[in-house]
Amino acid sequence: MSRTLFTSRAGGDLKLPSSREKLRRSIALNSLHFMRQTHSDLVMIAEENDGDFECDALVTTTPGVGIAALAADCMPITFSAGAIVGVAHAGRIGLSNGIAIKTVELMRTLGASDIVATIGPSICRDCYEVSPEMYQEFIELIPESSTSSFKHCLNLQRGVRSQLESLNVSVVDVETCTLENPLYFSYRRGGEPGRQAGVISI
Ligand SMILES: [Zn+2]
Repeated sequence: MSRTLFTSRAGGDLKLPSSREKLRRSIALNSLHFMRQTHSDLVMIAEENDGDFECDALVTTTPGVGIAALAADCMPITFSAGAIVGVAHAGRIGLSNGIAIKTVELMRTLGASDIVATIGPSICRDCYEVSPEMYQEFIELIPESSTSSFKHCLNLQRGVRSQLESLNVSVVDVETCTLENPLYFSYRRGGEPGRQAGVISI
């Protein structure tokens, strides 16, 4: 059985080592791994003692090892398949480079089947407005992310859902907008800077 958790501002800014350690202790994990996220398409495997991950998704098969993706408007996505779990950080760039798809592919090479993905708190289709040029360019690549050509907001959640469902992955969306909900850090809303996380472990 895997455990999934999406933190909020109440969990503190998870860029800070002290908040990370507090979280690790509160959910009784042997280790909790974070990434140096660069909007890449890189997925890595985390074991108990691995330290330094420069990537945007992690997978683990080790009980007691938590893996976490930071976000503050981008989507933290957790992937559960019994004894194999994954986590990814996916924003507009991650959606276009297929980070969620690559996470599923790596999990499947390790033997995962019946994967359930959960899209955590992230900026919604009504709030994620981009320039008309960026909107047009993006929806040509990922048509499922289109909304209205008048307001040119991107629907990241529907975009990643279509990528995952085309791979026969079940998708759950917590449907919480970080910009609209002050319980969450939001890069776009501004104010207090910080990152929450999606965390999963076996
Ligand atoms: Zn919103």
